[in-house]
Amino acid sequence: MKDKKYLLIPGPTQVPPPVVEAMSRPIIGHRSAEFQAIVERVTGKLKKVFQTKNDVFILGSSGTGALEAAVANLVNPGDKVLALSCGKFGERFRDLAKIYGGEVDFVDFGWGYDIDLKVVKKKLEENPDIKVVLATQNETSTGVQNDIEGLGKLVAQYEAVLAVDAVSGLAAIDLKTDEWHIDIVASGSQKALMLPPGLAFLSVSDKAWRKIEENTSPKYYFDLLKARKSIAKWNTAYTTPVSMVYGLDAALDMILEEGLDNVFERHKLLAKATRAAIQGLGLELLAPDDCASMAVTAVQSPMVVDADTLRKVLLRDYGVTFAGGQDAMKGKIFRIAHMGFADKMDVIIAISALEMALGKCGYKAELGAGVREAQMIFVGGEHA
Ligand code: PLP
Repeated sequence: MKDKKYLLIPGPTQVPPPVVEAMSRPIIGHRSAEFQAIVERVTGKLKKVFQTKNDVFILGSSGTGALEAAVANLVNPGDKVLALSCGKFGERFRDLAKIYGGEVDFVDFGWGYDIDLKVVKKKLEENPDIKVVLATQNETSTGVQNDIEGLGKLVAQYEAVLAVDAVSGLAAIDLKTDEWHIDIVASGSQKALMLPPGLAFLSVSDKAWRKIEENTSPKYYFDLLKARKSIAKWNTAYTTPVSMVYGLDAALDMILEEGLDNVFERHKLLAKATRAAIQGLGLELLAPDDCASMAVTAVQSPMVVDADTLRKVLLRDYGVTFAGGQDAMKGKIFRIAHMGFADKMDVIIAISALEMALGKCGYKAELGAGVREAQMIFVGGEHA
């Protein structure tokens, strides 16, 4: 059946039926009292998911818009910026800081590795004039998650403001914005928040506001001072993507009904099962266990087949889409997402399709060897 598809990429992700339904409601005016009430309600729920009492903004853009908003409002030309990177999205944050005139100290921990807090501490000690620190919570390009708790508590001891790209991690991996002192958290709609692409989100701490209030970088659409004026009236500065906000309302209800801790536990379980399955097939994982992402698993393609050829077979024969590798990782890795509206059977589908496709590509894996490992995790070993 050609139309049956299984979207298992790290964004856009599958959108649950209640969200689709909510988004199909009639449009109302984005400046109406009725819509203001919705924005107020939704912002309250967003704050729960961000685990913050800080201001939280809804932006009409993809996740990169939230990253740009963070940089455009924080970085003054000539400001010293410490950009911590372990992949594609860390590099993007660096690029943005450069474009806004930051004097960027780029620390590359390498693709497949996580941020080393000892290195960060040394940088901060030696450079008390660092104004902004940029980091990625979940590095989607490599399936690595960083210790944002440790980083937040470290940077809080210095003058620098910490901005975290949580585009693919928020609502999949715990992020306690206030408790961990994260000044800016940026996220996007199309990943663990279970919406289509089109919205971005940003939380802003008091420490960040002080920096934003003295910022001189040119900006227009992403001016957070304008956004702050608008949100005081439960509005956005420019036309709000009304249908997306309806969907957000429904998605946040699902997340909060499940309970944040349960949502994180589910992601952890799916990641564990996926990793066990991959190892059961004799394949190599890119990220080591201690920094493996709960939201996406990156797998090294076996020598006999290029990852992109394998992905073509998966899509052609089984309707399954995995993501490929980016930049230097292209053709070398494939990435299986287990974020957002994902559950145990998504992992089983992913792994069973992978087993069949591997066989077609000349990699001899015993059928069921990966699926069995995932099942064992799911049943807790009771049928071993
Ligand atoms: N940051 C991370 C960690 C991401 O995974 C992505 C998208 O994959 C982005 C930023 C960019 O988001 P968008 O493509 O929505 O602009």
